[in-house]
Amino acid sequence: MGKNKGMIIVQKTIEENPKPLTWHKVDNELEERIFFTCPNGHTSLLEDLIVPWNILHHVNKKGKVRPSVICFSKGCKFHDFITLQDWTS
Ligand SMILES: [Zn+2]
Repeated sequence: MGKNKGMIIVQKTIEENPKPLTWHKVDNELEERIFFTCPNGHTSLLEDLIVPWNILHHVNKKGKVRPSVICFSKGCKFHDFITLQDWTS
């Protein structure tokens, strides 16, 4: 948030413990889903947080997510670029 776009580093965590500014992966036979928890503690599927809505998000080899991420929880103003730490594609 603030001026340093692209500088928000999000720590990897486990599904059972999604603290603010963390991400985690849920794997099952059918799919692989990435969840992100905003600074205010709202956890959402990463794909649902990306705008414009008709563009799929992209995570590059270094974990940088594009486009930017918006939290749609009521009253939450989080909107920024994030990088997923310890990302392995
Ligand atoms: Zn939020």
